[in-house]
Amino acid sequence: MDISNSVWSSPRDYLKFHAPVNPVMFFSPSALHERALRFLNGFPGLVTYAVKSNPDMTVLQSLVSFGVNAFDVASPVEIQLLRDIAPDAALHYHNPVRARHEIEFARKMGVKSYSVDSVSEFAKLRDILDADGTEISVRFTLPVSGASYNFGAKFGATPEKAAELLRAVAEAGFIPSITFHPGTQCTDAEAWGTYIRAAAGIAGMAGVKIHRLNVGGGFPSRRLPGELDLEAIFGVIRNAAVQAFGDDQPVLVCEPGRAMVSDAFSLAVRVNAIRDGADLFMNDGIYGGLSEQHMIGLTRRMQAFRADGTPLGGPTVGRRLFGPTCDSTDMMPGLIEVPLALGEGDYLVFHSLGAYSTATATRFNGFGDIQLATVGTL
Ligand SMILES: *Cc1c(COP(=O)(O)O)cnc(C)c1O
Repeated sequence: MDISNSVWSSPRDYLKFHAPVNPVMFFSPSALHERALRFLNGFPGLVTYAVKSNPDMTVLQSLVSFGVNAFDVASPVEIQLLRDIAPDAALHYHNPVRARHEIEFARKMGVKSYSVDSVSEFAKLRDILDADGTEISVRFTLPVSGASYNFGAKFGATPEKAAELLRAVAEAGFIPSITFHPGTQCTDAEAWGTYIRAAAGIAGMAGVKIHRLNVGGGFPSRRLPGELDLEAIFGVIRNAAVQAFGDDQPVLVCEPGRAMVSDAFSLAVRVNAIRDGADLFMNDGIYGGLSEQHMIGLTRRMQAFRADGTPLGGPTVGRRLFGPTCDSTDMMPGLIEVPLALGEGDYLVFHSLGAYSTATATRFNGFGDIQLATVGTL
């Protein structure tokens, strides 16, 4: 991303002045700062940032300047990126399946923490890494709901298999830890409680005292109207760890992606057409900044503006929202309530779009030229 140096007071201000024909992603550094401090001051352990959710340089450098000094990385490119901007940061290579050359690269770059969910991938790590001073976190999964989509479908051993792996990790001389990910945009704090109790059970089954427990990402962003109670989740995590582990307290670690960045960005799209008074066509869609929304539902925090910046309210109507490409899957799920008065040339601003948006956006069909602007408040 290339974020311009001029700072606008709000998206409305920018829209009024520029009347942009391309989608605009607005970034509020102060919103990111506020969120980083909320994690750093509220989470009862080490805060790492999951780089994949938004690997933009400005985001990474801002987080480093706010005091985040540990990162969850998933590829050699992400490792290099972080080594370039924060050479001393702790890197956790928590993609449980990797090619041998990728492990080799991480070792050369001084990465000391890895995750694993299978015997075959643990064998690769053992072949390439020195056990001494290297942490391996065994990733497990449970059939727990509460998240927007299921992360357990791809990664995570069953608790029984995790216990065997944990024992093997400890016996090979690595620093044994446990990790899980409850699934992204998880709004049920109790999911963490369930996972933490299961983690203590796994350590018990293996007869291994674990060094750290990484409670994953999955923390929700403010995609619904109302306040976000991250502190309630932190409280559940703290209490569950105390109750489940007693005197054998592991150091807690979290790795938020979405909840760290999402609410620091909002996307403005322009209405290209209200086709015959019914469907609404936007200048961005699932191949651009709204890439993730068809999987987890469109953010319900949105605002509408006239081209001259006047806020649009009044009676609403449920419309189908389409992106600009010729792909028929380029649409938002369900009917979205928008102001009845919203028409061609007006703007919709979608909030909480800083994660898995620009990171995955494409230029499919010639669209997706997203401009960037810095604002004081969103
Ligand atoms: C993607 C990912 C995260 C971040 O998840 P969010 O739901 O965005 O917080 C954390 N840890 C791992 C291992 C991941 O793959």
